[in-house]
Amino acid sequence: MLSKFGILLDVKNFCPVHRKKIKMLKVGITGGIGSGKSTVCRLFEKFGVPVYYADDRAKWLMNHEEDLKAKLKESFGAAVYKEDGLLDRAYLAGIVFKDNAKLEILNSIVHPAVFEDGQAWQAEQEALGAVYTLKEAALLFETGSYKNLDRIIVVTAPEETRIKRVMERDNTTAEEVRARINKQMPQEEKEKRADHIITNIAWETLNIQISDVHEKLLYYAKRPKA
Ligand code: ATP
Repeated sequence: MLSKFGILLDVKNFCPVHRKKIKMLKVGITGGIGSGKSTVCRLFEKFGVPVYYADDRAKWLMNHEEDLKAKLKESFGAAVYKEDGLLDRAYLAGIVFKDNAKLEILNSIVHPAVFEDGQAWQAEQEALGAVYTLKEAALLFETGSYKNLDRIIVVTAPEETRIKRVMERDNTTAEEVRARINKQMPQEEKEKRADHIITNIAWETLNIQISDVHEKLLYYAKRPKA
């Protein structure tokens, strides 16, 4: 459709005012265990925002991506895959759990593969006309993948609330959840690095915050880039 000034208004990814190509905004979303990252992402999806779930995708890639599987077998032995070709997660966890050097090797194999996959996904979403996308990852800062993102959302909640949620979700103990929390970057540190903070305490206030951040991201996304 042409505006009364002859400007194309509804061509995907073009700023109607400046007629400049709009680069898709790449947004990262992270938060500590049990903060509600995935829950928040599912609410963003209701606005039509495409979401890349990096942790779920990593699991899928480790089961299906042949190059990645070959590298894991090379580093951890063929027994890391079961007869059905799927990753033996318990076996791998047993290897890396108490051996930081092995954990680093695992990360150095998996993180680049997920990063590359995420880049390809973002390119595909941009080609489809997405205005902005979300990349959800527990270790967004720790893996360095935040560097390739335009804005970062951090989801937070009080520690006791997070512990309670994870205990219920995973049927585990408070001690086990605390141990997992202690291995992560502190919530306050993540908050310092955030462009947007979503405090996930109650459903009522959660939806309002998500709408607000969504509006802001649309605004940032529609500004033409140099
Ligand atoms: P993880 O890092 O372990 O993947 P997460 O940050 O993605 O966790 P979710 O899985 O989204 O967290 O949420 C943890 C649990 O808390 C889920 O069972 C979810 O349904 C519940 N939950 C999330 N937000 C709320 C809320 N506002 N009120 C009540 N329960 C919630």
